[in-house]
Amino acid sequence: MDPATEQAHRNGLTRALLAGHAVLAAGGPALDAVIAAVMVLEDDPLFNAGHGAVLTADGTIEHDACVVDGPTRRIGSVAGVCGPHHPIAAARAVLDHSPHVLLAGRGAEAWLAGRVPFVPPSYFITERRQRALRSVLAAAGGPVDDADRHGTVGAVALDQSGALAAGTSTGGMTGKLPGRIGDTPIAGAGTWADGTVAFSATGHGESFIRAGAGHAVAAHLRAGLSLDEATALVLADVAALGGDGGVIAIDAAGHVALPFNTRGMYRGVVDAAGVCRTGIYFGPMQESLPQA
Ligand code: ASP
Repeated sequence: MDPATEQAHRNGLTRALLAGHAVLAAGGPALDAVIAAVMVLEDDPLFNAGHGAVLTADGTIEHDACVVDGPTRRIGSVAGVCGPHHPIAAARAVLDHSPHVLLAGRGAEAWLAGRVPFVPPSYFITERRQRALRSVLAAAGGPVDDADRHGTVGAVALDQSGALAAGTSTGGMTGKLPGRIGDTPIAGAGTWADGTVAFSATGHGESFIRAGAGHAVAAHLRAGLSLDEATALVLADVAALGGDGGVIAIDAAGHVALPFNTRGMYRGVVDAAGVCRTGIYFGPMQESLPQA
């Protein structure tokens, strides 16, 4: 990646961190903070969610998103939807206003219409993702650039009351079969929060579902492992199942783990004082200042 593109990703991450921090600093709930952070990244075409999400094999958009509130274990997910301006807000509407935890496809869109703002499908589609789809289809199952495959966005937060929450939003994987649903909207797989941990994953969704990744991290913590150990074990299981990816997680004591087994993972942390650190490749994260 050239330095300008790298900086643009760091700026997006920093804006998202600061949006979440603003909620938490005002004493707001972790749930609101993760949604605020994810919405910023959904608006940013550099990330695979909302505007700029990756395309299905048919060139269409099918968003998956999930939010989980740790203390209550209330969950809202949407899968395979195209229409809501912010898929994470659609997931939140499911959490707040439906008796269900996961709504998919046309039924979800019909239920969401009038409850959250909609935009035309063309809003989500970018030229870059159309190029990526062409190159993934041309590779016919062969190796493709990581940047063409991943980029799901997620946020985890611990608020002043000690509550944890997680949110994840994605277009899925470039060239996925229409109708394919990944790990993101599957609570306990790609997104999870309870009293011990908040967790969000990116990577090969099928492997994260098979690993029960989010639930597995929580179970390892309950068994006495540290957050670093628990997330490393789960990523190793994902790798043993043939998948790659990364996770972001925070526990009830505020420990943060951001491991990945890909070449890089866009990631960042903001502390209580509002200091942001972001990273892309291996190695320590660097302090990121807000940019215009
Ligand atoms: N985990 C997402 C999915 O499988 C994709 C990604 O994170 O890039 O839908």
